Amino acid sequence: MTKSEVLLGAHMSIGGGVHTAIERGCSIQCTAIQIFVKNNMQWFARPLTREEIRAFLEHRQRRELRSIFAHANYLINPAATNPQFLTNSIRALAEELTRADQLELPFLVLHPGAHLGAGEEAGLDKIAKSIDSVFRKVPKVKTRIALETTAGQGSCLGHRFEQIAHIIKSVREPERLCVCLDTAHVFAAGYDIGSEAGVRKTFREFNRLIGLKHLAAIHVNDSKTPRGSRVDRHEHIGKGQIGLDAFRFIMTDRRFRKIPKVLETPKGKEMREDVINLRKLRALVEKK
Ligand SMILES: [Zn+2]
Ligand SMILES: [Zn+2]
Repeated sequence: MTKSEVLLGAHMSIGGGVHTAIERGCSIQCTAIQIFVKNNMQWFARPLTREEIRAFLEHRQRRELRSIFAHANYLINPAATNPQFLTNSIRALAEELTRADQLELPFLVLHPGAHLGAGEEAGLDKIAKSIDSVFRKVPKVKTRIALETTAGQGSCLGHRFEQIAHIIKSVREPERLCVCLDTAHVFAAGYDIGSEAGVRKTFREFNRLIGLKHLAAIHVNDSKTPRGSRVDRHEHIGKGQIGLDAFRFIMTDRRFRKIPKVLETPKGKEMREDVINLRKLRALVEKK
């Protein structure tokens, strides 16, 4: 496999405009990137202007990136118990889907939500209902929502594959959903991906409960926290508790060839950390 065939990269800042993420990604030889479609700590933003959309869509380097997708902001909680937060979450999600669609991004990664004491069952039902409301608000949007597997911190749902499967089964338009698997999250959630046998078993379970056909992206993060800790702390590849077996498997198994893999590990403005992590991941392919 050559470098350009691997869909690999990192989350990129949009500081200075959405189109700048393309330049950042290309500057460190990414073939895939993830972006926020607006400030990730704000509920709402003014709509993207025609110029901003054009600067992104017609960027001369855009085709160097074979996959560009979005991540929703962190305030959104489709299982919120406070009515105002729930209303904000539904509106913000609809707006972010619209922005992602204007940028022709195939999916928007979303943490399914936290039930905040309402209970797992009630939380999952609320998430499905909220997603129905969002899709109803934006019937023409093609960008799908990619439910992300979570670490299960606090009352966050989505840490068991069964929960993701439940949401997909419960919504009215399941074809508008897909899934993003985060290695740090599944490990912290308790799945054993610390060995090749373990990671194979975990993906078999994913396939049985959710279906690999729904897998749209993989977040390749090592974990600072131990397996089953339910604490979400990303670490650089090979520096955390997961070990390299899981990453080697993900980088080399043919079924993941067309699945974009992006880092969400800590980094500075110069992105040197990304360069090192990407090099480590590519080396896993070459050694095989
Ligand atoms: Zn993630
Ligand atoms: Zn995380």
